[in-house]
Amino acid sequence: MTSHPDSSGPARIGPNSIIRMAEALLEQQGEARTAELFAAAGLEAYLTVPPSTMVEETEVIRLYQAVRAGIGLDAAARASWEAGLRTGDYLLANRIPRPAQRVLKVMPAGLAAKTLLQAIGKHAWTFAGSGRFSAEAGHPVRITIADCPTARGVTADRPLCGFYSATFERIFSTLVNSASKVTEIECSAAGAPACVFEIRWK
Ligand SMILES: [Zn+2]
Repeated sequence: MTSHPDSSGPARIGPNSIIRMAEALLEQQGEARTAELFAAAGLEAYLTVPPSTMVEETEVIRLYQAVRAGIGLDAAARASWEAGLRTGDYLLANRIPRPAQRVLKVMPAGLAAKTLLQAIGKHAWTFAGSGRFSAEAGHPVRITIADCPTARGVTADRPLCGFYSATFERIFSTLVNSASKVTEIECSAAGAPACVFEIRWK
């Protein structure tokens, strides 16, 4: 795993995990409920001034815990998925260079996936926090995040990390194969050693 140059401080995660969750909640739950959920996480200030740099991962963990506690697992899953899709859109619009996108789109899917996984691995420090990223190319592609932030501090009967599944799905379905679907097949919130995401397009 590549480390952020400032890896001596607290683990940090890109602000999309918070900004896009705010957008998803506003759309799905309305302003009052969104304000309650952010207040429960102690993050209400972010609704007025969204974070512009990476945030401490403890804030992300707190927000996703507060959302699950406040609106239940099903509604939280819908919000997390929407936040992930929006994060994927943001990355495609602002972070993944257009020339690289054009090249990936014309490559055979397997090769595009392999190339994309290498790029994602280099940037894992921007989304996994202190979680540990690894990936296997092939079909299905398998991405593993040990100590995944959105599964931290919670026990559930199902996988909870739809934020990551949806981000991967938006990026793979745009750049690798439009039929790409992501399933989190194991989640540490449900007792697995790590969160495992499987990506299939055939
Ligand atoms: Zn998980």
